Amino acid sequence: DAITVSDLAQKLALKGGDVVKALFKMGVMATVTQSIDHDTAVLVVEELGHKAVRPSDSDAETELLAQVEDAGQQGELAQRPPVVTIMGHVDHGKTSLLDYIRRTKVATGEAGGITQHIGAYHVKTAKGTISFLDTPGHAAFTSMRSRGAKLTDIVVLVVAADDGVMPQTIEAVQHARAAKVPLIIAINKMDKSDADPMRVKNELLAQEVVAEDFGGETQMVELSAKSGQGVDELLDAILLQSEVLELKAVPDGRASGTVIESALDKGRGPVATVLVQRGILRKGDYLVCGVQYGRVRALFNETGEQVAEAGPSIPVQVLGLSGVPDAGDDFVVVADERLAKDVAQQREAKRRESRLIKQAGNRMEDVMAQMGQGASQQVLNLVVKADVHGSMEALRESLSGLSNDQIRITVIGSGVGGITESDAQLAATSKAALIGFNVRADASARKIIDANGVDLRYFSIIYDVIDQVKQIASGVLGKEI
Ligand code: GDP
Repeated sequence: DAITVSDLAQKLALKGGDVVKALFKMGVMATVTQSIDHDTAVLVVEELGHKAVRPSDSDAETELLAQVEDAGQQGELAQRPPVVTIMGHVDHGKTSLLDYIRRTKVATGEAGGITQHIGAYHVKTAKGTISFLDTPGHAAFTSMRSRGAKLTDIVVLVVAADDGVMPQTIEAVQHARAAKVPLIIAINKMDKSDADPMRVKNELLAQEVVAEDFGGETQMVELSAKSGQGVDELLDAILLQSEVLELKAVPDGRASGTVIESALDKGRGPVATVLVQRGILRKGDYLVCGVQYGRVRALFNETGEQVAEAGPSIPVQVLGLSGVPDAGDDFVVVADERLAKDVAQQREAKRRESRLIKQAGNRMEDVMAQMGQGASQQVLNLVVKADVHGSMEALRESLSGLSNDQIRITVIGSGVGGITESDAQLAATSKAALIGFNVRADASARKIIDANGVDLRYFSIIYDVIDQVKQIASGVLGKEI
């Protein structure tokens, strides 16, 4: 389904050069003799003024923004519950911990509801409410963050006391650090005879995660997700951390927030679990949700009961959307259906466009140019994977050492072994370049790298890495460093 640029130009009665120029503006490099695919052709036709019918640009978003700002200025900030994500190495007990808390702490109400997996749940304790995102692992945390939605206030990092710090533990530390989200360590499996919490604390110390009893700031709670011993202490620790963070939101007015999970239900149509982050979401509200829109037909909580409304930090299942939104999409309540529909349609058009631009602009130099805008000191984030520990350490030190007062080069993630999905996510969400030293990206990592236009470079000589990073840095600064 391809067409050459010159054929397309002819059909449009335009000069080939004009089409090339328009393509260039969209971030697509092509010469007149080259072919472009169907989607790109449609876009460039629109760009050139042969517009397909679509709502007038920017009007709808502008109106939406005005409405949101209006709503945001009403009402005073009040304390809100913390939103927690549980992370940790495989088999260290994330699921067990989430399930234990759900089973024992979620209020099932008078109807005797049964807790269900809707992607999140909230618990009420004597000291306060806590919301848990119950999609364990990095996906919920990082892919959402990459869309600009900061969902998680606190990461609970589960470390099995009989196993200690493992590769995914270190990854979780790196992810949380990159997102500037505080950690609480749940030292799990304390019921086991070979549990060694001291070892866990020492190994975390090596990752610069310092326990309070070691003079640091990180709360560490010893517990068992199996017996439940220590779980109340963990909830207390979360609420304590949340007090320190002074989490606030406007608790009334129109709601906005983020989609946590979504699906197409056979009987009920599109179903989305959203986390309300501001305001109150009510049955009957009109909302825009990513590129979808609709009117809230019903709201359900995590016990399957209908609720009339949900306030800040509370997860709730929404029925009544036009289609299935993506996890990580934002939602916002608007005054009427027309605006909701206009914004949704406009976004759909934009999304297609930016996908193409992203595909074309996947070069480190571009990423850097975007990142550095406005900042006096430019920033280059790197994720470094190497085949052996020695090389990784050497790279990390020498690369960080290239920083000066104009550019800060930060190795936000590093490790030994192939480039995995988690490395790719970290790079994508942190706008970092990925460096593979004698290691390659696996298939699932490559998918994320391609989809996000992450700059991935392979090396086998340390000097080459340093040389290239220097070049990139000087390109950004416009001179040698
Ligand atoms: P995840 O991969 O991190 O979600 O780990 P799971 O929650 O699936 O737990 C992995 C295994 O460890 C399962 O067999 C659990 O039953 C077991 N497990 C989890 N927590 C505990 C605990 O506190 N004590 C003991 N003895 N076993 C546990």
